[in-house]
Amino acid sequence: MSILIKDVLHNNHITDVFIDSKKFSQIAPNIKALADITINGKNKAILPAFYNMHTHAAMNLLKGVSDDKELFDWLQKDIWPREEKLDSEMVYHGTRLAILEMIKSGTVGFFDMYGQQSAIIKAADEMGVRAGVTAVAIDLFDPAETKTHIETIENFFSDFTTPSPSRIFKALSAHAVYTVSRTLFNFVTETIEKYDTLLNIHACETQKEVDDCYKYKNCSPIELLDKHRLIGPKTVLAHSIFLSDKDIDIILRNGATVCTNPASNLKLASGIFSLQKLLDKGVKVTLGTDGSASNNSVNMITEMKFCSLLAKIKTMDPKAGKAEDVFKLATQNGAETMGFDAGVIAEGKLADCILVDLNSPLMVPNYNIISNMVYSADSSVVDTVICNGKVLMQNRHVEGEDEIIATAKEIAKKLA
Ligand SMILES: [Zn+2]
Repeated sequence: MSILIKDVLHNNHITDVFIDSKKFSQIAPNIKALADITINGKNKAILPAFYNMHTHAAMNLLKGVSDDKELFDWLQKDIWPREEKLDSEMVYHGTRLAILEMIKSGTVGFFDMYGQQSAIIKAADEMGVRAGVTAVAIDLFDPAETKTHIETIENFFSDFTTPSPSRIFKALSAHAVYTVSRTLFNFVTETIEKYDTLLNIHACETQKEVDDCYKYKNCSPIELLDKHRLIGPKTVLAHSIFLSDKDIDIILRNGATVCTNPASNLKLASGIFSLQKLLDKGVKVTLGTDGSASNNSVNMITEMKFCSLLAKIKTMDPKAGKAEDVFKLATQNGAETMGFDAGVIAEGKLADCILVDLNSPLMVPNYNIISNMVYSADSSVVDTVICNGKVLMQNRHVEGEDEIIATAKEIAKKLA
């Protein structure tokens, strides 16, 4: 499959872009190559696509089912009881709904934390996106659950065949220090060391989580995870709002990645992430939406604006959270963390990109396209989405979208 994009804006110049064998093979004016698909890029710009580095995709089915509550109350009373009803088919349809929203807002990859992983892999495979699909360790300190989770995780890594190894990979999640026992954490450590896999974990999301960790373990969540050898170069720490200077040193020393989730943190009144401080110290930061029950969307364009604006108010400094820095978190840093040679538009890189509509009023005038994307745009400016050299959306149409929406509406009735 080859794609030729004609006369598209790239780095302030009009050029052609030729995609072949899943990569950007040539970026130059007047390319004469024959292509399977030719796209007219006039009045469009080519930009990197987005990678949502912390989400619970299938929770898209739960958006709006319960809002405006305190985190632990919300989880225990409204979310976890409904999640017990979710079978594999529901997770499949919920994940498809999330992926549809992601594609429509320019996202081509997501790092997920959810159960029913075969359903998630199937949805991501069929819809053509990249995904890190994780087995989830969460036992709530119940020994029977510990045993079940160890078996489930072992099965996930040993028995599971991944249908699209180039786009979809298996990884591991540990929910949080307040939901995972010492025995299960020890097993998580063994597993990530054995399989050399990415680890996704909620850490320092609320002040209560940090206070309780000091109360029961006499250390911070980051220090506790470090004792378990779980802060490493393949660790992605979601939220990470309440980090001490010692925590930041541990994260830096071990090369771990942090994923900020601004809208979810605002909605649950968790706190404000110290973006500029972490960037200044050299911590690798990525961006994610968290699940749609707490966001209530998986739109990375909206998330970039929250991310930038919160960095400014956190420091009372308008120079904090610069548009270019935030755009990089959402694109290049995400792709790199997922292990894909993508996230920038350059020859030889994997062909993940979006074409944005320069005739949208949100993109006019176009003095600085990154400024427009972070501060002005919404998902309506995304016209075309390409992942791994394949068109996933063109003229804002995604194949099969009507059926995805209709099925999700039916399934949601069972969760009200
Ligand atoms: Zn989360």
